[in-house]
Amino acid sequence: MILELKNVTKAYPARRRKKGWFNTKQGEQAIKKVSLELRQGECLGLVGESGSGKSTLAQCILGLESLTSGEIWLDHQPIHTRRMKDIHLYKRIQLVAQDSASSLHPRMTIRDILMEPIRNYFPERKVRALDICLSLLESVGLEADTLGKYPAQLSGGQKQRVCIARALAVEPDIILFDESVANLDATTQSSVLDMLKRMQLERQLSYLFITHDLQSTRTFCDRVAVMVQGELVEIFKDWDEELLEHEYTRMLFQTLAQETKRLPLHE
Ligand code: ADP
Ligand code: MG
Repeated sequence: MILELKNVTKAYPARRRKKGWFNTKQGEQAIKKVSLELRQGECLGLVGESGSGKSTLAQCILGLESLTSGEIWLDHQPIHTRRMKDIHLYKRIQLVAQDSASSLHPRMTIRDILMEPIRNYFPERKVRALDICLSLLESVGLEADTLGKYPAQLSGGQKQRVCIARALAVEPDIILFDESVANLDATTQSSVLDMLKRMQLERQLSYLFITHDLQSTRTFCDRVAVMVQGELVEIFKDWDEELLEHEYTRMLFQTLAQETKRLPLHE
């Protein structure tokens, strides 16, 4: 067990009304008493419709949002009480978000973008930094000449691969993917997923794979957790409708079955 969430609840402050300036009343709970375990080397899917609290959960794990109640443990140590300045704790968990590509600085070359985390976290590797960048590029399936390019010269899929390489440069144990492949076309999606799977096995990484698309978790994830309106309603492992407990998950399964039927046949 590498990451453990115990009864995690997050309520954002209610919107400030005109009358009470210091209105500290709490608003609706974005996540409600979520308990979840991520094992070493496991890929855990997290599905749920928009607004069900998936991204909020990722932000809480990263320490970017404080918890209203509950606990988060990393390797049997509580991390919800720590501050972001504990970089050696937080570097173990990296995020690749849907719009990660937009966080690539337009005036930095890919080489500078990949060098940055190496310089920050591993100053002793400065001499070898270029070699490390090259091997990172290779592991995410990009050519060596990408190093000299700027983000604008790359396609969406290539940019997302750079983001993944940047996350890997920090040598995390856990990577959170928040709709990371949602913007990519189907072929690029599947080749990025293949690459991620290979990397996970090679480096024994643990993934939390957040998506609204149940289909993509089917071959990629070991277990799938389902969230509905802030609550974790089900975690399943077998793709057998008979074994499902929650009606929402059953509905997801049926929609998926219908979609598969409707898919055009390839010649
Ligand atoms: P998802 O990622 O599953 O689409 P989110 O975690 O983004 O869901 O949102 C869950 C709920 O929390 C939503 O109702 C959303 O409006 C609310 N929410 C998210 N971020 C904030 C915020 N920074 N301030 C207030 N409410 C928020
Ligand atoms: Mg989201």
